[in-house]
Amino acid sequence: MSLPYICKRCLDTNSQKSFSELPGGHQCSKCIDQYTAFKWKTLSGEIMKTHLCFNCAQKSSACQVCGLDVVYFIPVELRDRTLKIITLEGGDINDNGLVRKIMDLVREEVKS
Ligand SMILES: [Zn+2]
Ligand SMILES: [Zn+2]
Repeated sequence: MSLPYICKRCLDTNSQKSFSELPGGHQCSKCIDQYTAFKWKTLSGEIMKTHLCFNCAQKSSACQVCGLDVVYFIPVELRDRTLKIITLEGGDINDNGLVRKIMDLVREEVKS
């Protein structure tokens, strides 16, 4: 069984064995393809379900559940725009420390 592509926040479970495939075809909310959906229970008892197909999620590094970037927890469009601005300003987007710092600021802005 392949595992879903999800962020740590949505994962929130102590065992990968707790994933179960949802029966029947499910439609991806982005490309509207049929895909294998998963559900699982988090440590806090919440039932989580995937909404995006694996391909869409992986292609844009987005979580299959919340659709946010799996590393920085911000919307992927915002992440891409931010990376573009960093590049335009002469920043190195392969500089993980720099990118992380900026994404942290962006995430704080999104929250407030
Ligand atoms: Zn899709
Ligand atoms: Zn998520």
